[in-house]
Amino acid sequence: MARRKLSKTNKTKSPKSKGTKRCYFFSASRAEGSRSMKELLGGKGANLAEMCTIGLPVPPGFTITTETCAAYLAGGGKLPRGVMAEVDAMLARVEKEVGRAFGSGKEPLLISVRSGAAISMPGMMDTILNLGLNDAITAAWAKQPGRERLAWDAYRRLINMFGSVVMGVPHDAYEHAFDRIKKRLGVADDTQVPANELKKLCTAYAKVYQKKVGSPFPQDPKEQLRLAIQAVFDSWNKPSAVSYRRIHGIHHLKGTAVNVQAMVFGNLGDDSGTGVGFTRVPSTGEDVLYGEFLVNAQGEDIVAGIRTPRPLESFAEWNPKIAAQLARIRKTLEKHFGDMQDFEFTVERGKLYLLQTRTGKRTGTAAVRIAVEMANKRLIDRETAVRRVTPDDITQLLLASFDHAAKKKATVLTKGLPASPGAACGKLAFTAREAMARAEHGEDVILVRRETSPEDVDGMHHAVGILTATGGVTSHAAVVARGWGKCCVVGAGEIAIDPVKAKITVNGATFGRDDVISIDGFTGEVLAGAIARRPPAGVTGPGAKLLDWADQFAALGVRANADTPEDVAKARSLGARGIGLCRTEHMFFGERRIMAMREMILAETEKQRVKALRKLLPFQRRDFIGILRAMAGCPVTIRLLDPPLHEFLPHSPSAVAAVARDLGVPERLVERRVTALAESNPMLGHRGVRLAITYPEIAVMQVTAITEAAIACRRERLDVRPEIMVPLVGTEREIAKLKEAIVATIESVKEKAGFRGELTIPVGTMIEIPRAALTADAIAKEAEFFSFGTNDLTQLTFGYSRDDSGSFLPDYIQEGILDGDPFASIDQHGVGALVALATARGRATRPHLKVGVCGEHGGDPASIQFFAKTGLDYVSCSPYRVPVARLVAGQAGLG
Ligand code: PEP
Ligand code: MG
Repeated sequence: MARRKLSKTNKTKSPKSKGTKRCYFFSASRAEGSRSMKELLGGKGANLAEMCTIGLPVPPGFTITTETCAAYLAGGGKLPRGVMAEVDAMLARVEKEVGRAFGSGKEPLLISVRSGAAISMPGMMDTILNLGLNDAITAAWAKQPGRERLAWDAYRRLINMFGSVVMGVPHDAYEHAFDRIKKRLGVADDTQVPANELKKLCTAYAKVYQKKVGSPFPQDPKEQLRLAIQAVFDSWNKPSAVSYRRIHGIHHLKGTAVNVQAMVFGNLGDDSGTGVGFTRVPSTGEDVLYGEFLVNAQGEDIVAGIRTPRPLESFAEWNPKIAAQLARIRKTLEKHFGDMQDFEFTVERGKLYLLQTRTGKRTGTAAVRIAVEMANKRLIDRETAVRRVTPDDITQLLLASFDHAAKKKATVLTKGLPASPGAACGKLAFTAREAMARAEHGEDVILVRRETSPEDVDGMHHAVGILTATGGVTSHAAVVARGWGKCCVVGAGEIAIDPVKAKITVNGATFGRDDVISIDGFTGEVLAGAIARRPPAGVTGPGAKLLDWADQFAALGVRANADTPEDVAKARSLGARGIGLCRTEHMFFGERRIMAMREMILAETEKQRVKALRKLLPFQRRDFIGILRAMAGCPVTIRLLDPPLHEFLPHSPSAVAAVARDLGVPERLVERRVTALAESNPMLGHRGVRLAITYPEIAVMQVTAITEAAIACRRERLDVRPEIMVPLVGTEREIAKLKEAIVATIESVKEKAGFRGELTIPVGTMIEIPRAALTADAIAKEAEFFSFGTNDLTQLTFGYSRDDSGSFLPDYIQEGILDGDPFASIDQHGVGALVALATARGRATRPHLKVGVCGEHGGDPASIQFFAKTGLDYVSCSPYRVPVARLVAGQAGLG
């Protein structure tokens, strides 16, 4: 019986729908949709339906599906058959609910028509309000007591909005007409214009409409509705909406839904009003109602900013009953949607209506706090809390960022690549030495270089930010800056740097030593002047809690790349459980060390070399003791020397002379060595394992230092766990030969030290040459662990130089040849395939082979997801990326 009745109602509702339901009704008493239907009803439509089902006061209406939009657009702008009949049936139900008629009566039913896709695209598509008025209906309505001003005001808004949105009449054309009236009356504010003048304005607007459109404003409300629906569908393909979807990677949606809903008015007097609320404070996450409202106003008035809204905190002073209702609604929304929501509301003559709700936008700090506090109150589970926070939210916790409003007012000079996030303002320094000297005098300086080299590290460290004209996101400057969490922009190719005259020129503007610029490491923008900043919140309190939860779900471990005891301690405090890459070359740049290093490089015999190396040994040992201590209980992978030796030598004639003087050797000796070591392609030259094969004494010194450091720590009863890693291996025999020397050195050091305790130091290799990946089964016979050096692996797989790709990569990305920068996010099909293959082949030889990643990709969210899927054991990244990596490792574990 009940079933027959239902099918009968359906039949009357959609007479020609032939099975495809196009419209879904919602009202406080009934809703056909639900929040699970976002794809079909759009976010707004689905949530309106949902609010109805949980008893929230929503003006009745209906949603036309996104599929209808797709059919309309596919049909070349023709509404599918039967849609308008279904719309009529739905409208009849709305009329019944509100007890007023659309297109007739003294108190006519007015409706709004709004867009709403499955993913919110704020402001991108169209809305038309007050539909259902014409000359006659407005005149009749205006005659009702207290309605005169409302009626003419609503009508002029309709002619304006309908003309602009549906027919493309420029908004200015109307504004001129309104301005003339306001000028004549001597008033500035729309609200001061009386009813009879608004009536005249309607006539003026109708004339504007007729002139621009070529036909009169449509007097048939149904016709208005049809055209409005079509306009909303058409707005899906507006250039701005298309760009928005492209920029945000929204490719899978069918189209927009259309929400047709009974209008309610917040401008019916002092017992009416309108507002916007958030269930928690969106900037801090505090668990209180937040928002603003205006008495006797419409929603548009809040957006237009003509009047200053009042904070919701003071709502109870205006209407305590509705304030209490809003407090209840805040709880209901959160409990039901399980997230912080924003909502729009209108009070019409003392009755509250909700017009929309969405997941509320929030800052990173707020996102973390809200997720943790909601989980603590069991509004969501911990898995949801971990899933919901984004990597960007976590990054925000750690870094200062520019104040939004302040940045908007600043001049953008150019844009480079965002190499290391953060926000820095400072005066310009043109050499590392200058940066150091000025920083030591308390100045904030930004080091500006064409590119940086290892020699610049001290200056880079002292600068508040680093800006380079060339280089990509794995160039030296980028890698080093990320390691320190220092703001860095690279590859800003439009900047011409003149270090001699100490100035930069960019797009016609010139800046010198005493000029201040700002760089935004989140976006790559370079801006003029100093911009106000917001300090970081840090990974404490809710941030620490959330990451603890993430660790519990983690699919893979997180280590850090660090090479000083301070950085290791920092990484540990941020949650790293091991060091995946200690780049020993960074230890050779201190003043006395570089001297010994140069002495070693300039040595002409093995004996001289060994003598110089002996001077380096105590430095290395001390460094390793500090590092191992700071990471006691966790593995520390120490890489043997990797860069080509000429990186440690001076290049300019004056620097050559200075080195010769310091070392007490003839200048021509230094020159000869510099020339001999010069390489056309240093990245493919005498570096990595090749150095250790030709100068085994360097590796022996380093292994000795590592073993002695480990023994010293073990004797202090510290559970230190060093691992020795060989860089740039390409053949099995390289690692075999070197491993033999390493193991022999370890044993000999133990022997000499009389150490009888348990100390195994695994010897592994980096996989960063495609040949090593392809022959991983053979290499794994010798290597006890693998760590993918995905920076070099990407460089060598693509054949793109890490340091020079900045000159063409942006074009490649712009042209769509590449989806993104492969040095920032792993190229899953190419380089990623090599990672997967090498892992499988390595484990075929050595089933329990530990495999990690220590290239920059180890801190990139999409790459981490990929590595987790590929079955890697850990990722290793700069200390400041550790929290993000922990979050993503947890998310990967949750699937
Ligand atoms: C790599 O190549 O990925 C790596 C970690 O080594 P580096 O960046 O020091 O060459
Ligand atoms: Mg490398």
